Amino acid sequence: MQGRYVQVAKGGAPLEVVTRDVPEPKAHEVRIRVQACGVCHSDSVTVDGLFPFITYPRVPGHEVIGLIDAVGADVPQWKVGQRVGVGWYGGHCGRCEPCRRGDLVACQNALIPGVTYDGGYADYIVVPADAPAAVPDSLNSAEASPLLCAGITTFNSLRNTGAKPPDTVAILGIGGLGHLGVQFSAKMGFNTVAIGRGADKADFAHKLGARHYIDSTTEDVAEALKKLGGARVIIATVPDNDAMSAAVGGLGYAGELVVLGVSMKPLQVSTLPLILQRQKVHGWPSGTAIESEDTLKFSEITGVLPIIEKYPLEKAAEAYARMMSGKARFRAVLETGA
Ligand SMILES: [Zn+2]
Ligand SMILES: [Zn+2]
Repeated sequence: MQGRYVQVAKGGAPLEVVTRDVPEPKAHEVRIRVQACGVCHSDSVTVDGLFPFITYPRVPGHEVIGLIDAVGADVPQWKVGQRVGVGWYGGHCGRCEPCRRGDLVACQNALIPGVTYDGGYADYIVVPADAPAAVPDSLNSAEASPLLCAGITTFNSLRNTGAKPPDTVAILGIGGLGHLGVQFSAKMGFNTVAIGRGADKADFAHKLGARHYIDSTTEDVAEALKKLGGARVIIATVPDNDAMSAAVGGLGYAGELVVLGVSMKPLQVSTLPLILQRQKVHGWPSGTAIESEDTLKFSEITGVLPIIEKYPLEKAAEAYARMMSGKARFRAVLETGA
C-alpha cells in the first residue's frame, strides 16, 4: 500500500509531496488514516531545521485527526475504525525524571509527531498506542484538528492556573492560539479580557466572548488591566516578549503570567510584585492524550471551535507559507479527502 507524504528533505528545504510505502504498525503502535492535520507555527522546527536531533527526510504535522486503520500487537485499547487525534504529545520514554513523576508531557526524551517521527502532513501516520485521544462523534475532523495543539495549549494552561470563575483572565494576542483562548476563558466563566493590536479587532474579540478589549497600539496594557482590578491570569499567546513585558505589570494579587508564545528575546519583569503580591511567571507545555480528550469534550459541550482555512494535502506548502506569513484566519488545516 502506498500513500502521499509531504516531507522536507532536510532543514530549510521546501515541503514536497512524495509517494511512499505505508508502514505497518509494530507492537504497541497504531496506524491512522489521516483525515485532517492542522498547520502550526511549531512545524517550523522541522521545516527550518531548528532542532539538531531531527533526522530527515521528515514529515511535519502534530494536529492530526483520522481513523485507526491498523493496530499492532499488544494494543488492547484501540480498534480499527475509531476516530482519534494526536497532538504535540506523541509518546514518552517512561525513564526520565518527569516521566517517573507522572508528568509525561514534560518527558525529556519526548516523542513528537512531525519532529521525532513522521507527522500528519500525510495520508497515514503510525504512532505509539499512548499517543491518540478519542474524538467525540459530533466534532468535524478539520475543525477539531487545531484543538490538538492550539486548543489544548490554551485550554489546559488556563485550567491549571489558580484562577477560578469569575476571576479576570487576559488573553494577550487574538491569533491562532488567542482566538481559542478567548473562547475557552469566556466559556469557563472568567471575566475575559482580550488584548490585541488595533481598534478594528474589538468587535471580533467581543464576538469570541471577551467582555473587555484592550488595544495595545493606543493603550498602556498594564494600566488598562489595573483599571479592571488586575488580572488573575494573563495567557501570553504572542511570540513577542516586549508585549509580554508591557502586560505583566497588569497582574493583580497572586497573578500569573503564563507564557505560551516562544520568543528569543528576554522577558522583563519587576521583581517586587512577584514577592509582595505572590505573582508568578511560568510557561506551559500542551498536554497528554487524556488532556486532549478533555479539550475535545469541552469543545463539544461549549461549542468552542477554531476558525479555519482548509487546503488539500497537495497544497501543504501553500498552507504552511500562509500560516508563516501570519495572514491565515486563523488556523490552516490540510485535508486528505479521506
Ligand atoms: Zn503546535
Ligand atoms: Zn521521559
